[in-house]
Amino acid sequence: MNIAVINSGSSSIKFQLFCMEKNEVLAHILVEKIGESISDMILEYEDKKLEIITVIKNHHDGLEEIISLLSKHSLLKDFTSLSAIGHRVVHGGEEFKSATIIDENIIKKIEALIPLAPLHNPANLEGILVAIKKAPNVPQIAVFDTAFHSNMPEEAYIYALPYEMYEKYKIRRYGFHGTSHSYVLKQTAKLLQKNLNELNIITLHLGNGSSACAIENGVSIDTSMGFTPLEGLVMGSRCGDVDPAIIIHMQRELGMSVDEVDKLLNKKSGLIGICKNNDVRTIIEQNDEKSQLAIKVMVRRIKKYIGAYMALLDRVDAVVFTGGIGENSAYIREMVLSSLLYEIELDKSLNAQNSTIISTKKSSVKLMVIKTDEEQEIANECLSLLKNQF
Ligand code: ADP
Repeated sequence: MNIAVINSGSSSIKFQLFCMEKNEVLAHILVEKIGESISDMILEYEDKKLEIITVIKNHHDGLEEIISLLSKHSLLKDFTSLSAIGHRVVHGGEEFKSATIIDENIIKKIEALIPLAPLHNPANLEGILVAIKKAPNVPQIAVFDTAFHSNMPEEAYIYALPYEMYEKYKIRRYGFHGTSHSYVLKQTAKLLQKNLNELNIITLHLGNGSSACAIENGVSIDTSMGFTPLEGLVMGSRCGDVDPAIIIHMQRELGMSVDEVDKLLNKKSGLIGICKNNDVRTIIEQNDEKSQLAIKVMVRRIKKYIGAYMALLDRVDAVVFTGGIGENSAYIREMVLSSLLYEIELDKSLNAQNSTIISTKKSSVKLMVIKTDEEQEIANECLSLLKNQF
């Protein structure tokens, strides 16, 4: 049984083809710079890597190129033979609590959620629409970034704003990165040989976009991203938590427009705002005053969330690091975990090796590093939906 996963961004398509029986990735294709004068395609399969420079006008052409590459390299002769195509959809609002088979009605609902995710949902929809055109008889399944957090208690998702803001306008916390937190949770359960629904963990997805999640008995009970993926941790170019009065000040006193403030908070803040760079590896190498400050601000915020989530969970089995920074940077992990609580103890040598378990034997909380795989999680969600459906 072959399942394809499409993660469609505004100018990119990330495509993966899975053979579910063999638990294997058959192909990985990245199409970037769609709509620009020159586009890039990278195909990886077996141990081969192929880079192609071409012109791809739009997502439709992008998917056509993907299909012809798959056929040319005998990876998938007939695109319509797929058992399912899973699509990453960033915002599922309040309605979508799990993976969902896409039909016209679902498309309308994803469309209606565009105001809540203007940067992401339109691109995700584009991917869905072109895939339906190319494989109209294959089940197309939407897997939502927000779904994993959909069982958060009311006190976690209600902002202390007038309640009508929630009732009338659905202004509430939704949370994102759900597929990543969910994948990491399942891997943790496997590795610790525990039942998922008995596991209390804190997951830290630290990448260009970052979020923390408090998971109680296998359910997300709080997470750092909120109404949009701007809230919470300090990210590559996003500010995370700030005093909301700053936004009023920028507009009222500094004369900035809504678009300018939007760009400043999403694209010019976070690490890049403090030290002009958003790549943690380079920032650590640079090591000048501003770089050190940026790292300290980022780490302090992560520590504060860990502390807050420890206070929410009455027992913590593990703190799990994932995402580009979480998986690779022993330096950041050590800073985050230093002087956290005396019963939590990092094994510095295991940490330096990026081992799966990086805590000492006597540490009361397991410290772990798990590589996330959102595409695999989407494929798994599709498979369980198909099994339940048919
Ligand atoms: P995205 O959110 O775009 O998927 P990633 O999860 O790939 O991003 O994370 C990108 C971040 O991970 C960058 O800041 C990058 O510098 C950082 N990173 C990757 N490898 C390392 C490393 N060895 N040490 C420190 N940071 C790293």
